[in-house]
Amino acid sequence: MQCDVLTLFPELISGVLSQSILGRAHEKGLVHIRVHDLRGFIDDVHRMADDAPYGGGAGMVMKAEPVFRAVECLQAEGTELRVILPSPQGIPFTQRIAQDLSAEGRRIVWVCGHYEGFDERVFQHLHPEEISIGDYVLTGGELPALVMIDAAVRLVPGVLGDPESAQQDSFVESLLDFPHFTRPAGVRGQVVPDVLRSGNHEAIRVWRRKEALRNTYVKRPDLLEQHHFTPEDTNLLAEVIQEQDKEKFVGSEKER
Ligand code: SAM
Repeated sequence: MQCDVLTLFPELISGVLSQSILGRAHEKGLVHIRVHDLRGFIDDVHRMADDAPYGGGAGMVMKAEPVFRAVECLQAEGTELRVILPSPQGIPFTQRIAQDLSAEGRRIVWVCGHYEGFDERVFQHLHPEEISIGDYVLTGGELPALVMIDAAVRLVPGVLGDPESAQQDSFVESLLDFPHFTRPAGVRGQVVPDVLRSGNHEAIRVWRRKEALRNTYVKRPDLLEQHHFTPEDTNLLAEVIQEQDKEKFVGSEKER
């Protein structure tokens, strides 16, 4: 993955990129991420990256020209670009988009806004992909860009120690992940399910599948509408529903 981040706050980005799994991915050469200060592309004498809005009102608007210059500089390197502008008005970011980004052959350029956002001509001229990380408004596009970079980089082959761990994650198959346990076997009176210590790999696989279906049924039933059910899934979900209904019934009897 080849990425560039255009921002007024480069330290916000580089601090995170140098840490943990992202930092190691960079060191191993599995991803190549450059961070550019948009102030370096300002041409006006006052060195202003933003200005007051035409029409008046609150907030400052980020100028278009520094973004155009920065993008033109990257284009001049001769590589094809995919320009992404984090925006609360964009399409919702999903695991599927993360997968798509992780396999992108073009250089990905994240353009991070701040204040009231960018002059509209950035959108009219560059036609960036606008992507939102949720229906709320943050102060800038740096955290959203990092969220997207993080989600995509961990899917690049070789970044995670065991590639299988990304395969079983939530949302990969429209299911949530199954519960995980580690040593010790007993914690404050709660014990690890026997099956996980049985050494029976098939029984463990089935247990995990069932608990992934249970997690999804209980926490995010909407996801099940998009799930492609195998005959095994259908049977396991029927068991889950029966068990959950029974638990609910027992709970309500106790309350009486
Ligand atoms: N006035 C804009 C609006 O209401 O649509 C919000 C501007 S916001 C304060 C400043 C910048 O933060 C945006 O240009 C965008 O880059 C980023 N941003 C804020 N919330 C975001 C979100 N939910 N997803 C992606 N980017 C976001």
